[in-house]
Amino acid sequence: MSDATTPQQVPYTTNNHGIPVESDEHSLTVGANGPVLLQDHYLIEKMAQFNRERVPERVVHAKGSGAYGFFEVTNDVSQFTKADLFQPGRRTAMLARFSTVAGELGSPDTWRDPRGFALKFYTEHGNYDLVGNNTPVFFVRDPQKFQDFIRSQKRRPDNGLRDNDMQWDFWTLSPESAHMVTWLMGDRGVPRTYRHMNGYSSHTYMWVNHGGERFWVKYHIKTDQGIQFLTQAEADGLAGSDADFHRRDLFTAIERGEHPSWTVHVQVMPFEDATDYRFNPFDLTKVWPHGDYPLIEVGRMTLNENPEDYFVHIEQAAFEPSNMVPGIGPSPDKMLLGRLFSYPDTHRYRIGPNYAQLPPNRPRSPVRSYAKDGPMRYEAARTGAPYAPNSYGGPAADTDRFGDVAGWRTAGEMVREAYALHAEDDDFGQAGTMVRQVLDDDARARLVSNVSGHLLNGVSRPVVDRALRYWRNIDKEIGDRIAHEVNGG
Ligand code: NDP
Repeated sequence: MSDATTPQQVPYTTNNHGIPVESDEHSLTVGANGPVLLQDHYLIEKMAQFNRERVPERVVHAKGSGAYGFFEVTNDVSQFTKADLFQPGRRTAMLARFSTVAGELGSPDTWRDPRGFALKFYTEHGNYDLVGNNTPVFFVRDPQKFQDFIRSQKRRPDNGLRDNDMQWDFWTLSPESAHMVTWLMGDRGVPRTYRHMNGYSSHTYMWVNHGGERFWVKYHIKTDQGIQFLTQAEADGLAGSDADFHRRDLFTAIERGEHPSWTVHVQVMPFEDATDYRFNPFDLTKVWPHGDYPLIEVGRMTLNENPEDYFVHIEQAAFEPSNMVPGIGPSPDKMLLGRLFSYPDTHRYRIGPNYAQLPPNRPRSPVRSYAKDGPMRYEAARTGAPYAPNSYGGPAADTDRFGDVAGWRTAGEMVREAYALHAEDDDFGQAGTMVRQVLDDDARARLVSNVSGHLLNGVSRPVVDRALRYWRNIDKEIGDRIAHEVNGG
């Protein structure tokens, strides 16, 4: 029974151990005005728990948003891969997380930055993670340079400020960045929402079919909502008025029942083509032109379920390109090979070595690993004998079914060298193609404005001069136009 004066019946509060608490409001004190007592375990639990509410934020991709959904196969690509999730008729549950890269947890969603596009598919053979971006290319092609690149985009050690001078200094001393920088400074550098951008694997992966035949693939995950972007002025305004614009948009769209979807395509390159294709197909700063390897539709992913708890499901979500299922393997892309180590390593540090047991990371297929113990482990070891082989019925690797290595033949001296060049490899060519052939006049004008605005914001003269040479290498005319703006018309 309830009326206006009777509180609505709600469940009673407990502490973390399920014990009913005496009060939500009052600490245990000696008299109403007296000192607070140490035996108020509930108060102490609340204060101590509060101090431990945060896990370290991700070094990159700290600010993100995500949702659950499903992936459905719409086209038969079984001639290229035996991966369970890509077989005809399959529907696979999944999780997606979108993010900015350089900004911190509270940074505005609409700062110009690439966007992370991380997907986890809960397949019958374990979790398949595709950890991509909204860009088909990247700034560097060797993992040796990744940490330096990121530091140039983050904050200065002396004053804690971000610094365009550092950014352009690094970019112009690393000409392989030209293609990605052109992308970033163009319209797609600030998507209107996470729903209005594409995802790309960027890396090349290997697919293996039932017959053991190998192919190289790149994924293109195209938005069904259409590409939309924000101008610099719109983005700057939103950064001030609604720093969480993209997070709000994704959550409220799904809440309204507007479930965003993307059509997943692949480019497939026959294994042997890689040797003398005109571009190095494993160089992360290059695309495979569509004319050479047209897109093949695979399926559609739809996000239809908001996380019940942001921290549990999105902050603790752990994506790792090393999660590859049978039928999918890596490629000789040096950046990819570096990431295979660094992602699981950062999860072990950030959310603990048993992070695979957390709700967003738990496979929905059986786990029969011999791993045991460690902090925060809550699932019992699944076998009495904690070693393999054993005579007590513990799991044994099924090498007949899963023993094939998705790999390639390699031999050579150990060296520290750049990739061997293919016929048309250079740092500026594909960026120039984009400026001249993909962008229209309006997009080129916005590119000039975005770049010159950025260069005029705290970049030292020697670095500006180097940046102007960099842009003239991409395209003489666009470089001249940027110089005109930067030099005061
Ligand atoms: P295409 O003409 O076949 O493809 C050009 C692609 O560029 C489009 O399909 C679209 O990719 C993308 N695009 C369109 N507008 C923009 C924009 N404002 N900013 C960024 N990308 C845009 O040519 P090619 O395949 O020969 O590629 C030419 C150039 O296009 C490349 O050098 C590269 O810079 C860029 N590009 C190429 C991609 C590829 O995988 N081949 C992918 C994306 C860009 P989408 O269909 O994915 O939206």
